[in-house]
Amino acid sequence: MDIIDRENSGRVINVSGAEIGGGAFTLIAGPCAIESREQLFAAADGVKAAGAELLRGGAFKPRTSPHDFQGLGAEGIRLLLEARERTGLPVVTEIVDPRQIPLFEQVDLIQVGARNMQNYELLKELGHVDKPVLLKRGLASTIKELLMAAEYIMAGGNERIILCERGIRTFETATRSTLDLSAVPVLHEKSGLPVLVDPSHAMGAARFVPPMALAAVAAGADGLLIEVHADPAHALSDGAQALRPEEFAQLAEQARQIRRIVRG
Ligand code: PEP
Ligand code: MN
Repeated sequence: MDIIDRENSGRVINVSGAEIGGGAFTLIAGPCAIESREQLFAAADGVKAAGAELLRGGAFKPRTSPHDFQGLGAEGIRLLLEARERTGLPVVTEIVDPRQIPLFEQVDLIQVGARNMQNYELLKELGHVDKPVLLKRGLASTIKELLMAAEYIMAGGNERIILCERGIRTFETATRSTLDLSAVPVLHEKSGLPVLVDPSHAMGAARFVPPMALAAVAAGADGLLIEVHADPAHALSDGAQALRPEEFAQLAEQARQIRRIVRG
C-alpha cells in the first residue's frame, strides 16, 4: 500500500489555533445533533468549562431511519457558529454531501462520518478544500480501507487529515459497536496522522464511555471525541450514549491524568 507519506510521521494539524497530533492531547465534545440554540449553548458551555479544545455538533444527521430527526441543516451550522462566538472554541460538524461544501465555509473542521467513509466523490471534493478533515472509520471498514479513504483526500492536495476510530461492526451485540483500539497504534505507524477515538458511538451507552475513553488514551490516542448533552433523556439523537457536562468534566480530568502517565 505505502500510500501515505511516512515522512509526515507525528504531524500536527492546526485547527483554527487548536492543535491535534504532534504530542498535543485534544478533547472534542458536544451534542450528537444540534437541536436548538438553548440545547447547543448548554452543552457548549459545559464542554468549554471542562476544558475541551473543540466543540462538535451535527447539523446534517445520517440517521438509520428516515423518520428520525435529520438535523437542522444550514440553520444548525449557523447556531454552531454562534456557539463558537460564545465559547471561543473551534467547531467541527459532519458533511454528508459534496454539494454542502459552501455551507461549511466558516466551519473549522469538517467531519466525514462512518457512513460516508467510502463516499469517494465526497472524499475527492474534500481533497480540494482548504480545511482540515476529521475522517471517521466506516462501520465495517478495515484499517487499510480507512487509510485508502484518507489517501483519496490527500490525492487531491488536502493533507490535513485526522483519523478517528469509532468502533466497527462485529458479531458482538452487547455494545453498539466494537471499539477497535488496536487501530490506534497501527494507524499511527502506517500513516503518522493524528488518531482520535470516539468511544460514544462505539459503546452506545453513557456508562460504558468513560472506561473505554481512558483505555483509548492509554493506547496512545491523540484525543477523544465525546458526545455531551445537558439533558440526555430528551436528546433527539444518541441520548443513550451522551454524557452530561459534569460527567464529561470528570472524564476530561481523568483522561489528562492518564495521558500524563502514558506520555510522561
Ligand atoms: C457522529 O459523530 O455524530 C456520527 C454520526 O458518528 P459516526 O459517523 O461515527 O456514526
Ligand atoms: Mn451521534
